[in-house]
Amino acid sequence: MVDRFERYSRQMVLPGWGRAAQERLAGRSVAVIGCGALGSHIAGHLARAGVGRLVLADRDFVEWHNLPRQSLYDEADARDGIPKAVAAARRLRQINSQIEIEEHVVDVNADTVEGLVKGADLVLDGADNFEVRYLLNEACVKHGIPWVYGGVLGTYGLTAAILPGETPCLRCLLGPMPPPGSMPTCETAGVLGPAVAVIAALETTEGFKILLDRKEELLRSLVMVDIWSGDFERAETRKAKGSCPVCDERRFEMLEAEQGSMTSVLCGRSAVQVSPRPARSLELETLARRLEELGPVEVNDYLLRLQAEGKEFTVFRDGRAIIKGTDDPSQARALYARYIGA
Ligand SMILES: [Zn+2]
Repeated sequence: MVDRFERYSRQMVLPGWGRAAQERLAGRSVAVIGCGALGSHIAGHLARAGVGRLVLADRDFVEWHNLPRQSLYDEADARDGIPKAVAAARRLRQINSQIEIEEHVVDVNADTVEGLVKGADLVLDGADNFEVRYLLNEACVKHGIPWVYGGVLGTYGLTAAILPGETPCLRCLLGPMPPPGSMPTCETAGVLGPAVAVIAALETTEGFKILLDRKEELLRSLVMVDIWSGDFERAETRKAKGSCPVCDERRFEMLEAEQGSMTSVLCGRSAVQVSPRPARSLELETLARRLEELGPVEVNDYLLRLQAEGKEFTVFRDGRAIIKGTDDPSQARALYARYIGA
């Protein structure tokens, strides 16, 4: 029988790796939060490298404009509107059948984030918005889980590894969360695939150091890269004695918020997500029969799609809906109530 680690031979020969490191990776669990461009590159690296267990979380489905960057998806996924977590898990199982993959089609919010990260040895940031990143920061600090932040816009990206209690947390590094709508998005500023690939590679490499207990080799910096100009910068990060509300005072305001708003405007497109709280289970086939008279309806194993009033509704089994064709939360809530039910 072929040694199951044979496939990792080019990695095991690296200085400081060997079979022991490979066995360590096989025993580790990593949560990848967000399976868009960053997340799909990161999850691909982790699966190929033989990390034993991956937890994937994403709320969205594959669309054509994802294909230039989101390395795990293909045209069939976009055509069939497959949820990213499902399409990613399917592809990753084809890449490495030795590892365990757990996929969650879910909105990462104050209700769900702790369940997704608990038990992970490491969390890697594949999110596309600051709300999720600040929430991840609180969840990881609260539970003492190392995580690596990453973000990309245009040809430019940032990353930093965060070890709760040892390094500054995201709140220490970037200050209070920027108000929604105050920052440029991928829709307004664009995003270049190779910039994502570089940040994902840096995030994953810092992740390997954490998983392999080689924390002394972490960069301990906020790394900034512009792949077009070729500028690489590193600003050393040191935990100041301070009064960070998250990592010093352990106030987890986002985690403990009263469920926040039920709607969120999605990064990069004219669409609003409406999520009922608490989540509920929807019988999509029954809903489809009810909606048939109102417009064209399609259902697959994961979601229902309806065209009505010039909008496209994508409804998931957990009751969430993404309504495309509006960026007005109150209109989205009204449409949700009208078609799916309050
Ligand atoms: Zn902090």
